[in-house]
Amino acid sequence: MPAPPPIAGPSAGNAAPAAARAARPVFAAAALFLVLLWSFVAYWTVGARQEAITGAERILRGLNHAAEEQTRRLFRTVDLFLGVADQWIADNPQRDPRSDAGFQRLIDDFRRRSGNAVDIRLATGDGTLLPRSAGERPLGDDDFFRAAVGGDLRHFHVGAPQASGPNGVWRIPVAHRLTQGRPEAAALVATVELSALLSLYEEVRMRPNGAVALMRRDGVLLARTPHDERLIGRSMAGGELYRELLPRAERGFGHIARATTDAQEKYVGYAALGDLPLVLAVSVPADDVLGQWRRQALIVALFAGGVSAAALLLASRLARARVELATRDAELQRLATTDPTTGAYNRHHFLSLLYREFARDRRHDTLLSLMVVDLDFFKQINDGYGHAVGDEALRALVRTAARCLREMDAIGRLGGEEFAVLLPGTRAEQAEIVAERIRGAIAGIAIETEHGTVRFTVSVGVTQGAADDASVDALLARADAALHTAKASGRNRVVVRAAGERHARS
Ligand code: GH3
Ligand code: MG
Ligand code: MG
Repeated sequence: MPAPPPIAGPSAGNAAPAAARAARPVFAAAALFLVLLWSFVAYWTVGARQEAITGAERILRGLNHAAEEQTRRLFRTVDLFLGVADQWIADNPQRDPRSDAGFQRLIDDFRRRSGNAVDIRLATGDGTLLPRSAGERPLGDDDFFRAAVGGDLRHFHVGAPQASGPNGVWRIPVAHRLTQGRPEAAALVATVELSALLSLYEEVRMRPNGAVALMRRDGVLLARTPHDERLIGRSMAGGELYRELLPRAERGFGHIARATTDAQEKYVGYAALGDLPLVLAVSVPADDVLGQWRRQALIVALFAGGVSAAALLLASRLARARVELATRDAELQRLATTDPTTGAYNRHHFLSLLYREFARDRRHDTLLSLMVVDLDFFKQINDGYGHAVGDEALRALVRTAARCLREMDAIGRLGGEEFAVLLPGTRAEQAEIVAERIRGAIAGIAIETEHGTVRFTVSVGVTQGAADDASVDALLARADAALHTAKASGRNRVVVRAAGERHARS
């Protein structure tokens, strides 16, 4: 036989919200755990990235400082040589430096002292270097040479490197106007072998992918390691170093999204040399700085992802277990409080509801009515159609009565084919109307069976809780008495008995 629908009251209908309530704390805890976990991951990731960048900054600033010192020493030496040679020419107006053995010895001495890195040449006003060398281009059109000969003595005039000589050796020229000009020579030009600078920078460069670059203050690239001929003499003025970093600070550390030299994303330590019109930049690709961090972050994220998945799995299992428990709890509750045949509250639970409502009425005068409903000639149904049809009649009775009730009302089975209905906040007159409605509805029930249609009626006793009721029993006895009157006076009717009517049971 199928289980009857839950009719008696709100308890069975509570199962779904109870299940949701059981699952909620598990998912809330899981969500909190995930938020904490991923907050930590985010915190660590951001911190570790910043740490990697700070480490790179420390190193790049240090390397830049070292490169700066060496660059400054070399160019200071060049400046010193130029000053000494200029002084020699000024001191010896009657001697021709082009052919003078003393001047030649001086120049040779410079060359030797600089380890063959620095050479000093005479230059005419139009920039031709003396002695002439085949294929060598005059410097007269170069800005740095014109500025030097034009009389700017205070500044250091350095030009873009040029390849010269049979082996195409790259040299950086530095021009210096003679204090005492001659018809045969207007300036001195020191040339610094690019390879000498590059070998200095190669020592400083971060391997394997770091770079060191020396530029003029206006952006012209003078030297860079790793060496690339195509870059020499090109202007870096349009790059981020010149447009963004240098205007902000003359020396420092920064990020470059796309380097002018090799289009890579980089971190760079840089410095404008200040006393010399030069800028040094020591850089390293961002991938090198952040590579390890990226690998670690990936591992941490994968780990956290795994932990999250496990936590969610655990949470869903736990939630399901709790929902099952809550559902079973609700089911147990329903079984403990309802009558299995009809779904109405069982006697025990109904009476406990009645006690509660009775007490409430006592305290707060909330009103309460009670009806007792008894199936007429039920024995005949059982005897005529069988017990199963009798049971079906009981279920139909409860279903039909429940449809006539409000949410707050309750119907319970007192025993056999006798039921009771509790109507809180209701006067006897209203209860009588409800009882009449129930009686009429039940009289309309027709149960089809193999042996014909079964119809039946009920008798109902109605009463209202009264101030002088000593207990629930008094109320029940009065409703019972009303029911007996209904039975006695022909059945299929509603009888109301008010408090104080002291009729004997018929
Ligand atoms: P009345 O009009 O005076 O109420 O007559 P009645 O036949 O309904 O009352 P009576 O007390 O003589 O018979 C009640 C019958 O109800 C007796 C019993 O077999 C039957 N009964 C009690 N509980 C159940 C039940 O759960 N299922 C079925 N099918 N019958 C039941
Ligand atoms: Mg009966
Ligand atoms: Mg009976």
